[in-house]
Amino acid sequence: MSRPVQASIDLQALRQNLNIIRRAAPQSRVWSVVKANAYGHGLERSWSALNSTDGFALLNLEEAIMLRERGWKGPILLLEGFFHADELALFDKYRLTTSIHSNWQIKAIQNARLNAPLDVYVKVNSGMNRLGFAPDRIHTVWQQLRALPGVGEMTLMSHFAVAERPDGIVDAMKRVAQATEGLECARSLSNSAATMWHPEAHYDWVRPGIVLYGASPSGQWQDIANSGLKPVMTLSSEIIAVQNLKPGEGVGYGQRYRSTQEQRIGIVACGYADGYPRHAPDGTPVLVDGVRTGIVGTVSMDMLAVDLTPCPQAGIGTSVELWGKEIKIDDVASACGTVGYELMCALAPRVPVVTV
Ligand SMILES: *Cc1c(COP(=O)(O)O)cnc(C)c1O
Repeated sequence: MSRPVQASIDLQALRQNLNIIRRAAPQSRVWSVVKANAYGHGLERSWSALNSTDGFALLNLEEAIMLRERGWKGPILLLEGFFHADELALFDKYRLTTSIHSNWQIKAIQNARLNAPLDVYVKVNSGMNRLGFAPDRIHTVWQQLRALPGVGEMTLMSHFAVAERPDGIVDAMKRVAQATEGLECARSLSNSAATMWHPEAHYDWVRPGIVLYGASPSGQWQDIANSGLKPVMTLSSEIIAVQNLKPGEGVGYGQRYRSTQEQRIGIVACGYADGYPRHAPDGTPVLVDGVRTGIVGTVSMDMLAVDLTPCPQAGIGTSVELWGKEIKIDDVASACGTVGYELMCALAPRVPVVTV
């Protein structure tokens, strides 16, 4: 028997989540955001469950080419565009859509020898201050690009910094409105949070990522609990040893946790080298034999410990869900002071993955 830690990817849930997203934004086309290896789920194994999407959005040229080679004929958007002018030959060859966020990229397209015009997404900085042109530069940039024979369809794109709050996109929408005054253009503004909660920002194309994978853009599972979205990734393992603590005994490195009474704990084959966060505090939720309990002690590289008090029947070989359908990745993440995004992206390559 191999080490029992395993990630399972529920392709049916992925497919259904896309359908739910479509119903949330019925007037828009959908870029399924599959950057970071499909948020840790594995692009190669996952993409075909999403093949009813209108396009795939990602960051990495190799992954874009892989999709083309596997037979995806629809649009592919490179969210950060090209990083060096010489990549344009591949954008041309594989018919990739590029984001344009800086002046040097305009010059690069002007100088490139392309077989056919490239579709571009012109990025406006609506307050995130990461990528994009200032709103008052958009008209100029638009005219410059429009005049280039190497430019095909143009879409205006922006990204929200705080779309999870009810009033979070007001400022950004004002800046987009300022940028597009008098400009007839297709638009793509909405990440998951705006796709689910801000229909006024849907426009032509939405760009959901995290909701495809069944986690909440706000970091709070309650916020999507009634949406029908289902977690796609389950990280599971088994108990490989049991310890019986006397009162006052410590557990693991640094002995952070100490028992206050006699206590049975289970040692689970899963640690930070599998992608479980090392900074998970005592009490971070975990499911043991179908019963919710919590972790105790500092997470090791290859193991962590769980309190077996609520599940006395559990022993060696008992199954453990670290996150998945019952233990929401959002709940684990929030106990650890982070978001589901980080945990799913950090699933370690050494964890065997099965698809169901
Ligand atoms: C990652 C990303 C998205 C998707 O964000 P989610 O919050 O996962 O929906 C959309 N647009 C851009 C530009 C991104 O970088």
